[in-house]
Amino acid sequence: MQTISIIDAKDHVDEQVRIGAWLTNKRSSGKIAFLQLRDGSAYFQGVVLKNNVSPEVFALAKGLKQETSLYVTGTIHADERSHFGYEIAVDDIEVVGESEDYPITPKEHGTDFLMDHRHLWLRSQKQFAIMKIRNEIIRATYEFFNKEGFTKLDSPILTGSAPEGTTDLFHTEYFGRDAYLSQSGQLYAEAGAMAYGKVFTFGPVFRAEKSKTRRHLIEFWMVEPEMAFMHQEESLELQERYIAFLVQSVLDHCDYPLTILGRDKDVLRRYTELPYPRVTYDDAIKLLQESGEFDGLEWGVDFGSPEETYLAEHFNKPVFVLNYPKAIKPFYMKPHPTRDDVVICADLLAPEGYGEIIGGSERATDVHYLEEQIKQAGLNMDDYQWYLDLRRYGSVPHSGFGLGLERMITWITGESHIRESIPFPRMLNRIYP
Ligand code: ATP
Ligand code: MG
Repeated sequence: MQTISIIDAKDHVDEQVRIGAWLTNKRSSGKIAFLQLRDGSAYFQGVVLKNNVSPEVFALAKGLKQETSLYVTGTIHADERSHFGYEIAVDDIEVVGESEDYPITPKEHGTDFLMDHRHLWLRSQKQFAIMKIRNEIIRATYEFFNKEGFTKLDSPILTGSAPEGTTDLFHTEYFGRDAYLSQSGQLYAEAGAMAYGKVFTFGPVFRAEKSKTRRHLIEFWMVEPEMAFMHQEESLELQERYIAFLVQSVLDHCDYPLTILGRDKDVLRRYTELPYPRVTYDDAIKLLQESGEFDGLEWGVDFGSPEETYLAEHFNKPVFVLNYPKAIKPFYMKPHPTRDDVVICADLLAPEGYGEIIGGSERATDVHYLEEQIKQAGLNMDDYQWYLDLRRYGSVPHSGFGLGLERMITWITGESHIRESIPFPRMLNRIYP
């Protein structure tokens, strides 16, 4: 007899199979027991009929505790009533590992309690659905950039300098020198683009942000593509193609997780329609001022969550906001050709209140301009000599962007808080488990 994964049940209808699974829940009456089973590939039901199994097996089934691990033997049947569509008519049960007093019971628990038990909470159906979508977004990211001719470039996690100054940085000691946990792989990606044309980095980044919001993690994963010989317009087209590809991949491969989450697939389908609208920062300020909802809002401020939510709702699609004030953006962004108060950059804002998911720009190419910016930003010139070399030896127009993986997942899954989009979230006041 074959041991199968639950997800493959559709290929084994009316066959007798064996499944390794955990019991998530159970209901029973005099003559029947319903076992809710999961094996990490899917969730489905085992039906144990008193008349079909030995008295020992029926007694065992009725006494099973939540999260006991089992081998279940039985025959697969279609089950129209469940999300999943199949169930197993149980012939035999073998207990593999006992489970007493599993802390996460089917009743409601508070978020702190669940976060303290994150190592177990991951087993629940909703967390399963989110992690499968996370996995698909990661898989599709590699597929997309491979298809577009990119090379994956691994940037270091320990760095001796910081792209955006020394605030919000985790500091550590490195054999008698200062070192920091990386906040972004971008500067290294730029070196990669000058070596291999089109590259992307993808790894964890760290920000000691004291902000406690629904959109900020302390440790999160960022995808950072960087493209040589590419101006901003072409980069924006690449960005919207990438986002549409991710959404389409989730629609194509994650129907079951999306159904578990109750995510509206028609809403997601609209996000695959290109192009996305674009609005300049100047016009965005006007829109916000005319709305009458943002008292005292003036040109020059950075947008917070309410402004980003308003703008994306206004366009009812992901929207690019172009050319922010130079004063609120990092030193490496390309200056505007005819205005010295804005830079050639864009943030992509997601609708439904999810805010910024991508930040990107064309990069400054002139070594003297960059030296001046580094000085003005109060950064240490010596730390950036290697970066300036990229402009000294064959500088070319180039552009890049950073996508926050967990922001993307939170938006696509329709969840209200970023903490459930990563297996073990690192947040203000939380580093356990
Ligand atoms: P925000 O203004 O929302 O703090 P940011 O301007 O600091 O974002 P960038 O430095 O441009 O963001 O980083 C690129 C992307 O990384 C953002 O568009 C977002 O998707 C993601 N991101 C930034 N900070 C966080 C965080 N603390 N937790 C999770 N994702 C983040
Ligand atoms: Mg930030």
